[in-house]
Amino acid sequence: MAETPGTDFDIVVLGGGSGGYATALRAAQLGAKVALIEADKLGGTCLHYGCVPTKALLHAAELADNARDGSHFGVLSEFKGIDMAGVNSYKDGVVSGLYKGLQGLIKSRAITVFEGWGTLVAQDTVEVNGQRITGRNIVLATGSYSRSLPGLEISGRVLTSDQALKLNYVPKSVIVLGGGVIGSEFASVWRSFGADVTIVEALPHLVPNEDESLSKALERAFRKRGIAFNLGDRFSGVTQDDSGVHVTLESGKTFDADLLLVAVGRGARTADLGFEAQGVTIDRGFVITDDKLHTGVGNIWAVGDIVPGLQLAHRGFAQGIFVAEQILGLNPAAIVESGIPRVTYSDPEIASVGLTEAKAKEQFGADSVETLEYNLGGNGKSKILATQGFIKLVRQKDGPVVGVHMIGARVGELIGEGQLIVNWEAYPEDVAALVHAHPTQNEALGEAFLALAGKPLHAHN
Ligand SMILES: Cc1cc2nc3c(=O)[nH]c(=O)nc-3n(C[C@H](O)[C@H](O)[C@H](O)COP(=O)(O)OP(=O)(O)OC[C@H]3O[C@@H](n4cnc5c(N)ncnc54)[C@H](O)[C@@H]3O)c2cc1C
Repeated sequence: MAETPGTDFDIVVLGGGSGGYATALRAAQLGAKVALIEADKLGGTCLHYGCVPTKALLHAAELADNARDGSHFGVLSEFKGIDMAGVNSYKDGVVSGLYKGLQGLIKSRAITVFEGWGTLVAQDTVEVNGQRITGRNIVLATGSYSRSLPGLEISGRVLTSDQALKLNYVPKSVIVLGGGVIGSEFASVWRSFGADVTIVEALPHLVPNEDESLSKALERAFRKRGIAFNLGDRFSGVTQDDSGVHVTLESGKTFDADLLLVAVGRGARTADLGFEAQGVTIDRGFVITDDKLHTGVGNIWAVGDIVPGLQLAHRGFAQGIFVAEQILGLNPAAIVESGIPRVTYSDPEIASVGLTEAKAKEQFGADSVETLEYNLGGNGKSKILATQGFIKLVRQKDGPVVGVHMIGARVGELIGEGQLIVNWEAYPEDVAALVHAHPTQNEALGEAFLALAGKPLHAHN
């Protein structure tokens, strides 16, 4: 904690996760006097309970698979098992290193951190530990929590991602309730670690927000990996005893396993914080704002997972910067929600940006949309990595590219180019003229654009 700093600030940020700390860092950079109030740990969900620890687990999972698959590459390796204590100490080491770095950064920008639970008690005041902290602007950034279903209690063998990240053993079998991003990532980790995994999803597909072609490809890949799934059937109930969990679906099907992971989405953490009492509009828990992320009340703004839309850390970062710059009198460009890249870090990975084929057809009409799929089978580096998958491009006929969708090992690293293309509204002909290094997986994007521009190289006409 910084030494006693007074209690009047230009900006008071409530919540020190991705959205809140990005607001604080940018505002301080622009010369504002900033207070940042955090009840738990700076860095929030993403750093401590989300993005970072799950990606560390996924990297350990990849190494486990590599050890198993060594012989495919002529490498004499053997998978002997998972030392979960070792995995956890690697994961926690990554988190604590980044946490130290973030604390240093916050300190270096002279941001005043208040540790404690804050409540909005006036349109310009947050109370924390009995102290009233006032700001000419207030930024709400209280984030989200793992939701459950009515009657589904999180206890014992029924976990959310929070408990799953702390497990000190590999379960023999797991049922994952929810085949979205978080469910698919945990399913992927546990399968690589040797567990029997079954995903149950009420909607007709895994990763149901993605282009349907990616969902279907993930289902094929998961089936091949021995990850079972049951789609289009809603959860009805669960019991647990010493032998494990027993899950029933509305169809009457039952599944047994050691554990049940509940991954049915995240709710906004806005209850009992005084937001509504100060006039902020809350809808199903989310804070409603205009497109400038202003709540319409006083000088109160909101960023991150509490604002309806994609619940992603990099969206929170962007929103934090956007709000700080507005407050400090700059005129930042609005954030285009569909231009925010999305990655599911399972094996195989999924990465996308822009409109799915279905959304593009809804927006522009079915006859005005053109798509192209480029199979990674034609890409040298993907062959070397022994991965399968494809890139699907969606364009407005005779117009710009409006969607890039990918599945395959490491495609998350390719989305940077995808998002430049979509957000800069590039035409396939523009991208086709750019030279991509050989052999990279990135080159597959180049090839896809060559094909869409009517001049495929390593693909059939
Ligand atoms: C398992 C999992 C994996 C994920 N993986 C990814 C990923 O790979 N990539 C990605 O982009 N996103 C991922 N996410 C989502 C990402 O974590 C969130 O989008 C991001 O953390 C949202 O940031 P935020 O600032 O809105 O909220 P949070 O990060 O939730 O931060 C809110 C902070 O506010 C604090 N707080 C809340 N109320 C109060 C109060 N009244 N007083 C004081 N402090 C308070 C909380 O303690 C918390 O630290 C993942 C999430 C989970 C759960």
